[in-house]
Amino acid sequence: MSEITNADYIAEAKKALNDPVLQNALADLQARFGRATALAYRNLPEGPDLRLKAHDIRAKTIENLDVVLETLAENVRKNGGHVFFAYDTQAALDYCLATARRHKVKLAVKGKSMVSEEIGLNTALIENGIEVAETDLGEYIIQLAGERPSHIIAPAIHKSRKDIGKLFADKIRIPYTDDPPRLTRAARKALREKFLAAGIGFSGCNIACAETGHITTVSNEGNIRMATTMPKVHVAIMGMERVAARLEDHDVLLRLLCRGAAAQNMATYVSYVGGPRYLQQVDGPDEFHLVILDNGRSRILADEEFREMLYCIRCAACLNVCPVYGKIGGHAYGHPYSGPVGAVVMPLMAGINRSKDLCQGETLCGACQDACSVNIDLPRMLLALRAKLADGDANWQVSRASIPEKGIYTLWSWIIQNRRVYELFLRLAALGQSLLPKNRDLIRRLPPPMGGWTRNRDIQPVAKKSFMDRWRSGDIE
Ligand code: SF4
Repeated sequence: MSEITNADYIAEAKKALNDPVLQNALADLQARFGRATALAYRNLPEGPDLRLKAHDIRAKTIENLDVVLETLAENVRKNGGHVFFAYDTQAALDYCLATARRHKVKLAVKGKSMVSEEIGLNTALIENGIEVAETDLGEYIIQLAGERPSHIIAPAIHKSRKDIGKLFADKIRIPYTDDPPRLTRAARKALREKFLAAGIGFSGCNIACAETGHITTVSNEGNIRMATTMPKVHVAIMGMERVAARLEDHDVLLRLLCRGAAAQNMATYVSYVGGPRYLQQVDGPDEFHLVILDNGRSRILADEEFREMLYCIRCAACLNVCPVYGKIGGHAYGHPYSGPVGAVVMPLMAGINRSKDLCQGETLCGACQDACSVNIDLPRMLLALRAKLADGDANWQVSRASIPEKGIYTLWSWIIQNRRVYELFLRLAALGQSLLPKNRDLIRRLPPPMGGWTRNRDIQPVAKKSFMDRWRSGDIE
């Protein structure tokens, strides 16, 4: 897990706000997918309430996760696959490296996998002398650029066509073009050679099905299918929560996943992988491994307040409507999960104090829950994280983020709960504001510590006569 500091968050957010290419790309992404996803939910035969059913499915699965995972492991093994439960990043990396070494792998191909980003698989492979090629077009682009993904589903959303044209000219030595079909053809040609030469294919898992012992991967490029069937060995890595108990649950989640991710009824390529190929099958790997990763998820599972976060199926619909993500993009959140899902998950996985700005930076507008394919109450968990930062929490090793801030809000809470004090406060504020600089009738600058609120906008002054005073004096009927 990468280090996230609050200074990084602020610096990256500022950088994003000053990047016109990124601002256009984010606005375009949200305009295209935000509304389209809502429409896709409405057009479901069961209507948008299917999200509520999916929430119940996820709740039941997560409540019984130990049994569901054991069933999954048993059925994958029956299908001829190997299963490894990795407690943390290091255990998962060790297993992947040992598997690659056993097969004397020199080149690995990877289908897009956020969990492999989470454990830093590429770095580990490269440090151990194994070349790794990302095969999802967006991931391929950012790998060439030496950058991190900035969106769960669209990792290169921060790059323009021109950026990609220059990158390809520089890195894969093709004549400069910003024509998407030509760029795509060039990537396809370069990647074909990798698919044919790779000794191992790594993938994520969108949803596993315990009942049948298979994993499902979805893509719109077909790259995951090639990465998982052409090399002799396929290693799939999944977060331990990404499982459905029954095939019919899996069906509901898969349909919602495609709608939440890209407003599609179904992704272009859906692969069900249930082990190595059988003798009579032409395609498929000789070995199939499933790595089931904990990496802090057990801790989330153990906490009733945050368990709901494990319902997440990483569809990214919340990113596509979040006003904060829509302005600061994915890099500000720190690697690898961004947007509202990242604002809850990253503090829980990387440390609440260390990544406090992620949860404090969200607006609590509720758009993320409305867009969420499984109706996760993200705003509730954002508030719960903020409460821990305000009061401290020994269980999560959280120290109070700001004692003066806590003091100010405690005082404010007391003021607004006492009518007389509140009215006195309003009168004093109405008097005091006459000393503040104005822009026409608006206040241009508030004094510290409230100055941030007026850094980019003017605000309405407190009314000279409050509503209650006007009511009492008969100004209002
Ligand atoms: S929180 Fe909901 S909308 Fe966001 S990625 Fe997870 S499932 Fe999708």
